[in-house]
Amino acid sequence: MTEFFNQFSRRKFILTAGASAGGVFLKGCLGNPPASITGNTGNNVQAQPAAQTVANLTPEQTPETTTVKLGYIPIVEAAPLIIAKEKGFFAKYGMTNVDLAKQASWGAARDNVEIGSAGGGIDGGQWQMPMPHLITEGLITKGNKKIPMYVLCQLITHGNGIAIANKHLGKGISLQLTGAKSLFTQLKSSTPFTAAFTFPHVNQDLWIRYWLAAGGIDPDADVKLLTVPAAQTVANMKTGTMDAFSTGDPWPNRIVKDKIGYMAALTAEIWKNHPEEYFAMKGEWVDKNPKATKAILKGIMAAQQWLDNFDNRKEAAQILSSRNYFNLPAEILIEPFQGKYDMGDGRKIDDKSMAAYYWKDEKGSVSYPYKSHDLWFITENVRWGFLPKDYLTKAKALIDKVNREDIWKEAAKEAGIPAADIPTSTSRGVEQFFDGVKFDPEKPEEYLKSLKIKKVSV
Ligand code: CA
Repeated sequence: MTEFFNQFSRRKFILTAGASAGGVFLKGCLGNPPASITGNTGNNVQAQPAAQTVANLTPEQTPETTTVKLGYIPIVEAAPLIIAKEKGFFAKYGMTNVDLAKQASWGAARDNVEIGSAGGGIDGGQWQMPMPHLITEGLITKGNKKIPMYVLCQLITHGNGIAIANKHLGKGISLQLTGAKSLFTQLKSSTPFTAAFTFPHVNQDLWIRYWLAAGGIDPDADVKLLTVPAAQTVANMKTGTMDAFSTGDPWPNRIVKDKIGYMAALTAEIWKNHPEEYFAMKGEWVDKNPKATKAILKGIMAAQQWLDNFDNRKEAAQILSSRNYFNLPAEILIEPFQGKYDMGDGRKIDDKSMAAYYWKDEKGSVSYPYKSHDLWFITENVRWGFLPKDYLTKAKALIDKVNREDIWKEAAKEAGIPAADIPTSTSRGVEQFFDGVKFDPEKPEEYLKSLKIKKVSV
């Protein structure tokens, strides 16, 4: 089974360590005048640090170290990390030397967390789910080495979607797939419908699988799914060899703006207020630096609250799009940040509740890492045969080990977050998807039974 994971996207160790080192930038940015950052002019926007001074920290809250190296992928999920650095929220809590290292791919992030910052890698950062659990279990690591990881907060909800190549416009491929079944069958006998995601068995793979299966399309039998780096997928879509692509903003919107494809669905339509990507760190680093971990979390929480003020979103788009980070025109981010999506097939969404949220959404806390959501990601891995069925019973112990919502709560209290914004249950309760299917975290097996298309037999 572990071989199953290892056949995917393993990158050469040396190469990825090098890629990460090249992605380090803005060292000590907040303490330096902008002039000290060379070669970063152009559309780079220097954020005005809002809280550049270090708060009066009690000895209990003074971090053990001010230095940490965190990985990120240039999509909107990374915003809380980038904003916490650029607006001075990390520094406010004493983390004055946070290095944000752009990762070449999810595989590179995985490799870099294995070696840690001492070895030129990273101490933690942004993850799709359930990567921290799979790394902890040694299921996607080199030599199946078990590397304990702690999930510390959720970074974002929404902000993702499924893009379809323009050649399929008007053929019924949208959120509901009932009108497109014959097309998929027809393609299957010649060149199967080919869809890509950026890492197997995690969010993007799971979203496209959920959507296809809900529409009666078997993702294992009726289409071809594969792992492709984002930029290459866009190139493949242009040349017509890629039919669909599941990923985070800004890519879906770029595909529409560049007239390469259209959006069949937003993940906000598939599962409103769904769990998306998370912040997780190496357990070893957290155990050694508990106060610094909480300082990082407090910085992220402040950034998440800042991001949820829609008046700040234009500035957020400018910071994220700058050359140091995403390196693209800010306009690509401004509209989705307001819940405005031109889906590219004539459909337009203008609904703030469909935008990305970082701190709170209609269901409550976004930042708090609900254990019930970890369980959905693990259950979905069981559904598709990525994890053996006994993980349904093993999940609780694994989640209790990996999900450190207790640290989130401590950090929230220290940051003065009102009690009303600190969840009292580790479960968000029953979840409902666009096709009416319900996931009761108390009964994951019942959920699997209710699904028509799956690989596991329950
Ligand atoms: Ca994502």
